[in-house]
Amino acid sequence: MSDALNRQMIAEELLNTLVCQLGADYVLTEESDMLPYVQEQRRLYPGHALAVVMPTCTAEVAFIVEQCREHGVSLVPQGGNTGLVGGGVPQQSIVVALGRMNRIRDIDPTNATITVEAGCILQVVQDAAQDVGRLFPLSLAAEGSCQIGGNLATNAGGINVLRYGNARDLVLGLEVVLADGSVMNSLTALRKDNTGYDLKHLFIGSEGTLGIITAAVLKLFPLPRGKATALVGCDTPHQVLALYEQLRDRLSDTLTAFEFLPRFAMDAVLSHIHGARDPFNVGYASYALIELTTPDADLDLNARLEAALADAFENDVVRDAVIANSSTQSKALWRLRESVAEAQIAEGASIKHDISVPVSGIADFIEAASATCLSILPTSRICAFGHVGDGNLHFNISQPVDMNAAAFMDLTPQFNRAIHDLVADMNGSISAEHGIGLAKRTELRRYKDPIALAMMERIKALLDPQGLFNPGKLL
Ligand code: ZN
Repeated sequence: MSDALNRQMIAEELLNTLVCQLGADYVLTEESDMLPYVQEQRRLYPGHALAVVMPTCTAEVAFIVEQCREHGVSLVPQGGNTGLVGGGVPQQSIVVALGRMNRIRDIDPTNATITVEAGCILQVVQDAAQDVGRLFPLSLAAEGSCQIGGNLATNAGGINVLRYGNARDLVLGLEVVLADGSVMNSLTALRKDNTGYDLKHLFIGSEGTLGIITAAVLKLFPLPRGKATALVGCDTPHQVLALYEQLRDRLSDTLTAFEFLPRFAMDAVLSHIHGARDPFNVGYASYALIELTTPDADLDLNARLEAALADAFENDVVRDAVIANSSTQSKALWRLRESVAEAQIAEGASIKHDISVPVSGIADFIEAASATCLSILPTSRICAFGHVGDGNLHFNISQPVDMNAAAFMDLTPQFNRAIHDLVADMNGSISAEHGIGLAKRTELRRYKDPIALAMMERIKALLDPQGLFNPGKLL
């Protein structure tokens, strides 16, 4: 019997077993049904799945893993499929789509924790916390469709990292199905637990390569009762950084978000996003979008922010500022920031980087990286925006107006090398929040410490000796 025929028979037998257990409705095999699960939104990575299976409980996930192991078929765990680096795209694997595992198992306002299944949509978790007067602070553009299991598997970042940390910092306990089909139950809701290695952190950020996260205990925080939002115009990234430092000193933990927009991003948003309006009469080279929040209803954040910005103006750090005086105005300011990615699509092809450096080096990085890009291609249109308060920039380059998109994209390796070398020189990271997936595997080998990389490979071999989980990703 030929190899291909043999593989086909094994796959058929496996699928029959899975259909018996899950029901035919939850084992998709038609190409058209599987389409939403085999490619990302940007369609950069072609994928192909043997099937998409939709378990409804941890025991079913364990059954699927056991069966796949017996049949030697690999699996790709998948949440809302909102990734950007190909991490959830299957290549001849079975996709385990966790969306049906969407129960909130427990919520404890006193302990300030919520226990949720992996398929819970992020926004549903946020809303459930709010219903009991608590905050779950993870917040990112895809929150209406991304799932918490995916957020944890990729250690998602977003707009509140400055105050609350990454997804990793918001987890107390995990339930994980391992490669042998056993279930690691570490669903503890403890803030103190010194009983050896903290295994949950192996799975958080592992991009589905070590196990399938099926549930998590997440930290909750006091619900903010007051908020202030401002957009500030500055001349240079160095002024923006100086402003950040002044506000951080003065406003402490009320500073929840500090985002950066360059002129190019603002122009792109104003020209392509319906209803977007420049709150200033003149344009500035750099902008900071600032948000303060507090659980203390008596604290007048608008007044505090206004006083801090007035001092920054006196110190020549700020050129102009608008403070939102309603939630509608606040939303309008945030919309300018949140529409940058969409507006950039309208400006043509773009080469993207998701980097971090120490916050103290962010302005130097913007200047040096911009100069490098212009030396590669003098007509480069640089769109470096993002989470400056976390030292994280989406350092994107838009296609020059008079250049062919394909010719521009051909320069990707050159731009990547130059930007990532600079990141490495500054002790930064080539992936701050999007992960490695398929997109940055070769880059990871170039920039990660070789001893750390070898340890990652040994951990992978130990926990997943058959290479069943998300093969070809990350490592
Ligand atoms: Zn981001």
